[in-house]
Amino acid sequence: MQDAFPPPEMGEPYLLTPGPLTTAIEVKRAMLRDWGSWDGDFRAMTADLRKRLLAMAGADDDWDCVPLQGSGSYAVEAMLGSFVPRDGKVLVLANGAYGQRVAQSLRYLGRAHEVIDKGDYLPPRGAEVAAALAADTSITHVVAIHCETSSGILNPVEEIAEAVAQAGRKLLIDSMSGFGALPLDVRDIEVEAFVSSANKCIEGVPGFGFVIARRSVLEAAEGNSHSLALDLHAQWAYMEKTGQWRYTPPTHTVAAFLAALDLHEAEGGRAGRLARYEGNRDTMVAGMRELGFETLLSDRWLSPVIVTFFCPADPAFSFARFYDLMKDKGFIIYPGKLTVVDSFRIGCIGRMDAPVMRRVVEAARDSLTDMGVASAAPPEEALAERARLAA
Ligand SMILES: *Cc1c(COP(=O)(O)O)cnc(C)c1O
Repeated sequence: MQDAFPPPEMGEPYLLTPGPLTTAIEVKRAMLRDWGSWDGDFRAMTADLRKRLLAMAGADDDWDCVPLQGSGSYAVEAMLGSFVPRDGKVLVLANGAYGQRVAQSLRYLGRAHEVIDKGDYLPPRGAEVAAALAADTSITHVVAIHCETSSGILNPVEEIAEAVAQAGRKLLIDSMSGFGALPLDVRDIEVEAFVSSANKCIEGVPGFGFVIARRSVLEAAEGNSHSLALDLHAQWAYMEKTGQWRYTPPTHTVAAFLAALDLHEAEGGRAGRLARYEGNRDTMVAGMRELGFETLLSDRWLSPVIVTFFCPADPAFSFARFYDLMKDKGFIIYPGKLTVVDSFRIGCIGRMDAPVMRRVVEAARDSLTDMGVASAAPPEEALAERARLAA
């Protein structure tokens, strides 16, 4: 029987990282030809991509999808600069690097903002959002991160959306590492716009992001943007008129993305994708815990996207060495991004399934043996910090 998830071709290691990630051979193969950006064939590909992403979001004709060249951060910055008017004010809900990046973008853009900073691993809750909005009536927009990829925490966007809607403000979501797997349907959640990119849960290659927004929001965005290249209204208006991207599109990335969308559909769409990622996470986390590793987050907040583990306390453990040993065994892992304690991360997304994750755990076990690490248990301080903050 043919393996549905064969090892990456050409002896590549698996990327246990949250994008770029391991892609299917069909996705790679789709890039083996060239397209003219103005040609009808490519315009049809762009139209198809937009239509399929809207369908994935449960969006009807009141919505539109605007793809934009660049990595995900370009699309986030375009959304902020285009949809927050210059006299608007934003409440940023931060609990990691991507929330901080939103605040940093707003500083660059010169948009007034406040930040609720929950540190490394606590979720922003609906009640505190409601309190912050009641305390400052000049806030026009709230920005939430769906899955904060720096710790892997799954933020409660439904409860946040409710608080924002109750207060009559507007919600923008960075669902970069969520959309395509985590539930995000515009019929279920009150949101102005959200953003994601080609190389996360839809399992394409890097090269563009996309914004899904209400048409009324896109129409009202004219003249807001501080930037020519990141003006979503202009990108949208040009695309509507010509069917083309405003400037050179990432043609090969678009072709790869359509192949990735075919695989996404064949897997049962968003729900099928989520089921595989949850299986990846559950298999990997259970195996790592058996080795003595501890997760930063309790099960309630563990996303099926990426999981943070504490580094073992054993002095024989070194992350740099662990990384190299894992790579030798065919797996690229990810350093941690916590400020307080040493950690590392293992991604669950990409073209991998539970049998692959079992091999990841075996590789981790063998790497510990190679280093002479007797126990993967974290230092007492890490567990004490976790317990203190969870209380
Ligand atoms: C990946 C990601 C981004 C965008 O990062 P880029 O490196 O610019 O692609 C933004 N937000 C979140 C939550 C992400 O996971």
